[in-house]
Amino acid sequence: MPADPIILARDLLRCRSVTPAEGGALSLVEKVLSGAGFAVHRIVFSEPGADDVENLYARIGTSPPHLVLAGHTDVVPAGDEARWQHGPFAGDIAEGALFGRGAVDMKGAIACKLAAVLDHLAANGGTPNGSISFLVTGDEEGIAVNGTIKLLKWAAARGETFDHCILGEPTNPKQLGDMVKIGRRGSLNGTLVVAGTSGHVAYPALADNPVRRIVAIMSAVMAQPLDAGSDHFDPSNLEFTSVDVGNKTVNVIPSEARARFNIRFNDHHTQGSLKALVEARVRAAAKGGYFRIDWDPSNADVFLTKPGPFVELVSGAITDATGHKPELSTSGGTSDARFIKDYCPVVEFGLVNETMHKIDERVATADLVALAAIYRRILDRYFPANGASSSIA
Ligand SMILES: [Zn+2]
Repeated sequence: MPADPIILARDLLRCRSVTPAEGGALSLVEKVLSGAGFAVHRIVFSEPGADDVENLYARIGTSPPHLVLAGHTDVVPAGDEARWQHGPFAGDIAEGALFGRGAVDMKGAIACKLAAVLDHLAANGGTPNGSISFLVTGDEEGIAVNGTIKLLKWAAARGETFDHCILGEPTNPKQLGDMVKIGRRGSLNGTLVVAGTSGHVAYPALADNPVRRIVAIMSAVMAQPLDAGSDHFDPSNLEFTSVDVGNKTVNVIPSEARARFNIRFNDHHTQGSLKALVEARVRAAAKGGYFRIDWDPSNADVFLTKPGPFVELVSGAITDATGHKPELSTSGGTSDARFIKDYCPVVEFGLVNETMHKIDERVATADLVALAAIYRRILDRYFPANGASSSIA
C-alpha cells in the first residue's frame, strides 16, 4: 500500500512544534525513517542567549549520488486560535483541505517527501541506487542559529558530502507547478546616520539641520538604481524602512538624524561590493558633511543554482506531473537554502504558498498527493532502477 502523505501531514500538524518546541514532530519523522531503514540522528544545538533546538539528520545508502531532502518542522505561532475555522493543531480535513499551522510551511512538504521516499524504496528493494538523506531542523522560523547552519557543519564534520539538495519551502504562488526557486537574493540591513549642529529653530543660520541633509542624501540614493537586474534576478533594491530623529521638542533643530534601510541584492554584488557602492553614493550626496553607515551583520548572501541537469531533472518531473513548466525564480525572501548552497547545489520546490503564516493556513489534500507524486518522480529519475548508473552526479 502506498504511503499516505495526507495522514503523515495530518499527524505532523497535530504536533505543537512552534519554534523552538520540538512538539513530537521530529519524533514522528524519526519513527517513519527508522522504520524504512534510515540511520537517524537527533542533535540538539545550543547558543548563548538562544533556546536549545532539536534537529534531525537521517541517511540511507552509502554510495553516491547523494540527494538531500531538507526542511523544517517548526512553525510560526498560530496567533489567535479562536479565529481559526479549524484548530491550528487539530489536523482537521474539511472541504478538500487539511487545515493547520505548518500545512504549507512546511510540514505538508515534509510529509510528501516521506511518502515519496517510502514508495521509492518499496519499489526498489528497500535501498536507493545511491544515498538519500533527510536534513530537518526545528529552527527555521525563529532566529535560525541552532538549525540548518549548524546541522550542515555537523554533517560535514562526520564526513557527509552531498551532491544535490531539494528544500521543500512553499514556492508556488497559485498552483502546484508554478515555480521552482533556483536562488535567492541577498539581504543586507544598514542605518544611515547624519550629524549636524543643533540650535534654535528661529536662528537656523546658527545651526546645521541634519534633517535637510539626510533627506537630500536619501533622495539621491533612491534616485539611482543599484543595477538593471541580471539573467536570473530582478534589479537589486534599496528600500528605506524608517527615518528617525527622536526629537520631542518643536523649537530645537536636532543634532542627528537616522534612516534604516534594507537592500535585496542580486548576483551583480557581494556584501562587500554593495557596501562600497552605497557608501560612495552617500559620500557624493553628503557633499563633505558628516555621515556614517552602521551595517548589521548578515548571513543572507545571494546565490544561484545555475540551470543544468539537476534543475532540468526537477523541473522536468514537475512538468510531466502537472502539465506546467515551472518558472525558475529567485524571488522572495531568504531561506535556509542560503546555508545549504555552501555545501551543494540546492533548489526549492514545495506547496502553494498563499496561506503560509496566515490564520486558516491550509493545503488542498489533492496537492499533497500531487506533490508526493512529483517528489517520487524526481527520486525515480535521480536514482534509476536496475543498477543503471545515475546520470546526475
Ligand atoms: Zn518555511
